[in-house]
Amino acid sequence: MAELLFRDDAYLRSCEATVVAVDERGIRLDRTVFYPTGGGQPGDTGVLRRADGSTVPIVDTRKGDGLDDVLHVPAAGATPPTVGEKVTAEIEWDRRYRLMRMHTCLHLLCAVVPGAVTGGQISDGKGRLDFDLPGEGLDKAAIAEKLNALISADHAVLPRWITDEELAAQPDLVRTMSVKPPTGYGKVRLLDIAGVDLQPCGGTHIRRTGEIGRVEVTKIENKGRQNRRINLAFAS
Ligand SMILES: [Zn+2]
Repeated sequence: MAELLFRDDAYLRSCEATVVAVDERGIRLDRTVFYPTGGGQPGDTGVLRRADGSTVPIVDTRKGDGLDDVLHVPAAGATPPTVGEKVTAEIEWDRRYRLMRMHTCLHLLCAVVPGAVTGGQISDGKGRLDFDLPGEGLDKAAIAEKLNALISADHAVLPRWITDEELAAQPDLVRTMSVKPPTGYGKVRLLDIAGVDLQPCGGTHIRRTGEIGRVEVTKIENKGRQNRRINLAFAS
């Protein structure tokens, strides 16, 4: 179980860590800034820097077996560090920042488009969400305009924890959320874009919506009678 530093500060680019395990699936650290693939957001890439200055390239980050178990996947052929070794874990920040911006933008898309979200994917520079929506009423230009208005308004984006009891005591809160949070763990991490969107999310986000920059709706696809896929990209 690693200390997941990106949860409290998504802007951390590196941290000192100790290697706790190495096997064919990956390298485990006692603490990390690397986000593992999950919630539609790809895992981080980067390096583990050793005391002698050499680096172990990390090409992917995945969830392991248990809670907060993170596997740093080294490049094929790379010599992994040894258990007990001190390393500096450094993510490829430019890529991660683009992923954070697009991830946060998908929260805004939830606020703009009615209907339950049935799936989604973020990739470098692009993102998409699937909505359970009948009919043809979606307009690319109108959605883009509403999204860019929310981006320009520069709303604050605040992750916060809430206990299961607090959640149960505030039925209004639950009504505003498009996804039912997992309960039974004692607490739930919420992502709150004040007055715009509120939902449980464990991903990495930017601090203000203005950081997203202008986006465009590149395509709206019909994926089945009730399923509409909305594709976004950063405006060039
Ligand atoms: Zn999120």
